[in-house]
Amino acid sequence: MAKRILITGGAGFIGSTIADRFLQAGWDVAVLDDLSSGKRENVPAAARFYPLDVRSAAAAEAIRAERPDVVCHQAAQIDVRRSMDDPRFDADVNVGGLLNVLQAAVAAGSVEQVLFASSGGATYGDTDVVPTPESHPQRPVSNYGAAKAAGELYLGVYQATYGLRFAALRYSNVYGPRQDPHGEAGVVAIFCGRLLDGRPCTIYGDGRQTRDYVFAGDVARANLLAAERRFDGALNVGTGVETDVLRLYGELAKIAGVSRGPEHAPARLGEQKRSCIDPSAAATAIGWKPEVALADGLARTYEWFRARRD
Ligand code: NAD
Repeated sequence: MAKRILITGGAGFIGSTIADRFLQAGWDVAVLDDLSSGKRENVPAAARFYPLDVRSAAAAEAIRAERPDVVCHQAAQIDVRRSMDDPRFDADVNVGGLLNVLQAAVAAGSVEQVLFASSGGATYGDTDVVPTPESHPQRPVSNYGAAKAAGELYLGVYQATYGLRFAALRYSNVYGPRQDPHGEAGVVAIFCGRLLDGRPCTIYGDGRQTRDYVFAGDVARANLLAAERRFDGALNVGTGVETDVLRLYGELAKIAGVSRGPEHAPARLGEQKRSCIDPSAAATAIGWKPEVALADGLARTYEWFRARRD
């Protein structure tokens, strides 16, 4: 019989890419999402859909009734600035929502493993070592990062208390088709949208700040491998390659056939200068390596946004 997975946040950018990947691998998939930022059209037709808030009693009941083998928790408040303006709301969704899901997973009695969307940028904070390994201390500098780090600690409690296995996958900066260009998080999606509109792209500061850009399809495959290998613990899911914003813009402008340079605005307060995570543990633990090179992933992403304009 097909293994069963329930994906919270499965109408969102990454969650829906994960849903597609598990369906492709022959899993039975259910999606639970309140559509606060996700879209109904992202949910694959072959998946059952529960339009519910992860914090609700109805969501807990749906998880108990579904009796999945694996719960993949992607639902979250993902806006770092909102987490600073309204920390209680952030914790309500990102900690309270996770706890509701974990309680329901235990009550369902069927769940062997929880896959958790953690963050490689936000939980480490400013790091001493780049690329940063999993053993580096977590020193979040945002409430969003603190909630993700707390989530990992709670997962440890449920593993110790109930034997609930967990894979905390610490994503770096994820990009790809379906990312929301209006959101806060996705510079690639924002640049794609503006290049297609013929509008200038803004770079904050000198553009030398680096990030580790990982393609969403690679992130979905990491989730699948962690489930198949029944991995237990925390793993970085990134490329180990630092890319600065100037280079990112240059690559995208080339793909778009745009010759003008970016506009510059003052650096944002508190923005990290460098962020890049070491993915080598994932290769050993679950046989995962990123497969999509940046130029290829950017071309695919740009083409996806372009095709939607036709
Ligand atoms: P997204 O906004 O596209 O997806 C989040 C999904 O969760 C949306 O579909 C939204 O409707 C849903 N959701 C939000 N609050 C909910 C609630 N209370 N109840 C039910 N559903 C709710 O964002 P994404 O980029 O796909 O992020 C997915 C996960 O990956 C998040 O947990 C995020 O923190 C994590 N993450 C993302 C990145 C990145 O670069 N995008 C990096 C690290 C970690």
